[in-house]
Amino acid sequence: MKKILLIPGDGIGPEVVAQAQKIINFFNQNSDKKFETSEALLGGIAYDKSGTPFPQETLDAARLSDAILLGAVGGPKWEVLEYKHRPERGLLGIRKELELFANLRPAKVFAALADSSTLKYEIVAGLDIMILRELTGDLYFGEPRGVKTLEDGSRQGINTMTYNSKEVERIARVAFDLARLRGKKLCSIDKANVIETTEMWREVVTEIGKKEYSDIALSHMYVDNAAMQLIRNPKQFDVMLTGNMFGDILSDAASMLTGSLGMLPSASLGEKQKNGKQYALYEPIHGSAPDIAGKNIANPIATILSLAMMFRYSFAYDKEAQMIENAVENVLNKGVRTADIANSSDKKVSCEEMGNEIIAELQKL
Ligand code: NAD
Repeated sequence: MKKILLIPGDGIGPEVVAQAQKIINFFNQNSDKKFETSEALLGGIAYDKSGTPFPQETLDAARLSDAILLGAVGGPKWEVLEYKHRPERGLLGIRKELELFANLRPAKVFAALADSSTLKYEIVAGLDIMILRELTGDLYFGEPRGVKTLEDGSRQGINTMTYNSKEVERIARVAFDLARLRGKKLCSIDKANVIETTEMWREVVTEIGKKEYSDIALSHMYVDNAAMQLIRNPKQFDVMLTGNMFGDILSDAASMLTGSLGMLPSASLGEKQKNGKQYALYEPIHGSAPDIAGKNIANPIATILSLAMMFRYSFAYDKEAQMIENAVENVLNKGVRTADIANSSDKKVSCEEMGNEIIAELQKL
């Protein structure tokens, strides 16, 4: 029995998580895989009900779970609050407390949607890449940092790019393991020609590759070239490994290759502990979409694909993960679409109906 903690959050979060819950129920009823779900509060709704965006009970429940599925947090209602009470603090808080250092952002283009990319059909059709971004180091956390006023009255801003070799080793191992589960190709991104930290990054990744992963084809690419190659010929990549800063930019660029925010899942993983436990949080990459919240028109596919990632990466239920992905693909191939991805010729369905269509496909598989 796997324990899944559901954190619906704000805006469209509850609507999309409810569709993923239906998929969990489907497997409980129709397979030998069993799941126990519970719910916790995070974000604006948590602030409204308990005065904090990240209640202690949520952290306790997260620690007890085998994996977490999050909807989204935030909305205009809470933007007036003091910084520490804002919904986003809840999200950053849970990532920090669970030390979720590895952020997996797949960018996959379903054939039926290849036309909605801003790039040409042949460049993106069949695209299936994974960007692995280190999430807890680099310029975002490095010291010294800040802005100070100099003696001459001018101001100086400082941020520090820093990684130690242990941090690089642990993210590199996640990347190599991912490549092993996929196409056995890893491209590590750096700027080793001008930034020493990333020169060390390159050396450490090379070393780990040689010693532990001789079956994986490792290559290295400068980040500026990688940005260009992502747009020129994204299908050359399988897994891309990046630091926090470069990954922030490259993963957003890669997500746009696929056309819609409503389709893209993600995972954030912690370190594997000695007892085998590994904290993991799965969530769509989109936000709480306040403009469409409560209207039952949100696209639940990013959240449902996040559940598929959970099955694959937290539980090693590859068959069930593949079933979910196939069911989504079949529904799209039939021209069934939520509003965000629909053309005039498509069958437009609500958020709930999309969930039901995916269940109906699962029943056929
Ligand atoms: P957003 O992703 O919520 O929405 C951007 C646009 O995409 C909107 O027009 C929205 O309607 C549309 N959209 C997003 N997801 C969709 C879906 N599943 N189906 C159909 N359409 C979808 O980004 P935003 O508007 O910049 O932010 C809104 C709120 O969400 C803010 O409070 C922000 O802080 C928060 N946010 C939260 C997360 C998170 O919880 N991880 C991430 C990003 C933004």
